[in-house]
Amino acid sequence: MAAKPAILAVDDDVPVLRAVERDLRARYANEYRVIGAASGADALEAVRELTRRGDPVALFVVDQRMPVMTGIELLREALPLQPDAKRVLLTAYADTDVAIRAINDIRLDQYLLKPWDPPDERLYPVIDDLLADWVAAFRPRFEGLRLLAGRWTPRGHAIRDFLTRNQVPYTWLDPGEADGRRLAESLDGGADPAEPVVLLPDGQVLRDPQNRDLAEAVGLSTRAALPFYDLVIVGAGPAGLAAAVYGASEGLKTLLVEREAPGGQAGTTSRIENYLGFPSGLSGADLARRALAQARRLGAEILSSREAAGIRRDDPYRTILLDDGSELSCQAVVVATGVSYRLLEIPRADTLTGAGVYYGAATTEALLYRDAEVAVIGSGNSAGQAAVHLSRYATRVHLVARGDDLAATMSAYLIDQLAALGNVELHAGTVARALHGAEHLERATFATPSGELELPVAAVFIFIGQQPRTAWLEGVVARDRLGFVLTGPETGRRHGWNLDRDPTLLESSLPGVFVAGDVRHRSIKRIASAVGDGAMAVQLVHGYLADLR
Ligand SMILES: Cc1cc2nc3c(=O)[nH]c(=O)nc-3n(C[C@H](O)[C@H](O)[C@H](O)COP(=O)(O)OP(=O)(O)OC[C@H]3O[C@@H](n4cnc5c(N)ncnc54)[C@H](O)[C@@H]3O)c2cc1C
Repeated sequence: MAAKPAILAVDDDVPVLRAVERDLRARYANEYRVIGAASGADALEAVRELTRRGDPVALFVVDQRMPVMTGIELLREALPLQPDAKRVLLTAYADTDVAIRAINDIRLDQYLLKPWDPPDERLYPVIDDLLADWVAAFRPRFEGLRLLAGRWTPRGHAIRDFLTRNQVPYTWLDPGEADGRRLAESLDGGADPAEPVVLLPDGQVLRDPQNRDLAEAVGLSTRAALPFYDLVIVGAGPAGLAAAVYGASEGLKTLLVEREAPGGQAGTTSRIENYLGFPSGLSGADLARRALAQARRLGAEILSSREAAGIRRDDPYRTILLDDGSELSCQAVVVATGVSYRLLEIPRADTLTGAGVYYGAATTEALLYRDAEVAVIGSGNSAGQAAVHLSRYATRVHLVARGDDLAATMSAYLIDQLAALGNVELHAGTVARALHGAEHLERATFATPSGELELPVAAVFIFIGQQPRTAWLEGVVARDRLGFVLTGPETGRRHGWNLDRDPTLLESSLPGVFVAGDVRHRSIKRIASAVGDGAMAVQLVHGYLADLR
């Protein structure tokens, strides 16, 4: 049986060390081995031994003030051995500045001021969160779902992206490598290298499954449980998830419909640094996982791999038409469908998508390009975050920006982070012209202020703006020229509005249909504002329902 993951507590003050060990064991002993060490040297010895045996360390809880080797020095040495372990520093008040610097320096996850009594309030909530994040990202030696897909097949990429973003653990085998080849040969009828195959633990074999078939096979719910809901939310990005949390927690029968994966754009982000309450930042996948768990716990129902394809007014009810022809009936709707990526329209971009050309998929694909040169096209914060993330894996990251001045479009903190990285090169005033490669991307050409530039990049990650997906509202709900949905004062009483009152702040031209997040006309394109819209929309839904009664 595999050993339990370890939590390593380190403090040179032995009574304090015993107290940390005692508190950690009291809560985590069932799932983790709590190991104590009274010096940096002892701790390093223990980490080396665990690493040699292939046993994972989930968490370091390390005192900063130790003689010979400080907590930060210890973490800097131990992390290359256990790079995925979460890091907590125990500090005195006077060390707060050191701890804050360590957030950037060694990606410290948290610092805790001593003493941490009572642990229920000051220790366990922090450690619970960190361990939940660690478990979500940890890939143990694994016997679950297997995906057999060639590295460069676009469908293989699409399935990997779907599984990762829906937080379904899997192992991926490439039929071009020994393990993958063996598995392909063992399949009835063999395997076509261009066609991905999903093997489920119960023996089912799915050849090139569509997202919906895959969703059903892994137990995601794709059919509504009730005939009627108080509130249907379309889109499970931050706005939709927030609306689901507030709607369900305030007693509304709430259904959330998502076409792809929960988290929306935020779920594809490698690191969110500016969301309130997370001083060390958090990944989009972690934010999505936490929000989804919260919405479910509070009673919201989630429908996966289903797309809203139309909306109908059946006064006093609203009907959402789904892409499989089924219908959802409800009293009120929140449209939170966000925006999706604008496509790069240059030669070969289309055919190489998924084979070296990716839209916002930096987190799913970064590991593939460990020793390669890659390019990020775009100049906004999303492009900057992707470049920082990719710089940890790729040998060189080319950041290609159309404008001359990055400061006009990117936050100062990201520009500073990029400037400090030795392997990120900025190409300002540069525009992509063509991509090249037969089976997968091999190089790309760009127009620069001084002529043409050819880069030997194995991947390009594209972040060139977004557009709303609102065609399904056509003719029923008023939109602006670009397709963003008008609300409140912007809608006025035009577009067939037929009530005596004006539309409320987030209400569309169709009474009872509210709009939250990036899809709203003139919205602020931020996670916090999307979450705020989601919460506010539910408040307005309550008012609307009260008027109906
Ligand atoms: C790479 C990247 C990095 C970013 N970094 C930050 C950051 O650090 N800080 C920050 O504040 N903001 C950041 N943003 C912006 C932030 O992610 C968005 O503002 C936020 O996600 C908007 O949330 P939303 O819920 O309105 O829409 P979205 O996140 O776009 O979610 C919409 C959801 O609706 C689903 N959907 C669409 N149409 C349908 C349909 N017809 N039926 C069913 N489902 C549908 C989509 O699949 C999607 O899941 C970043 C964006 C990107 C792309």
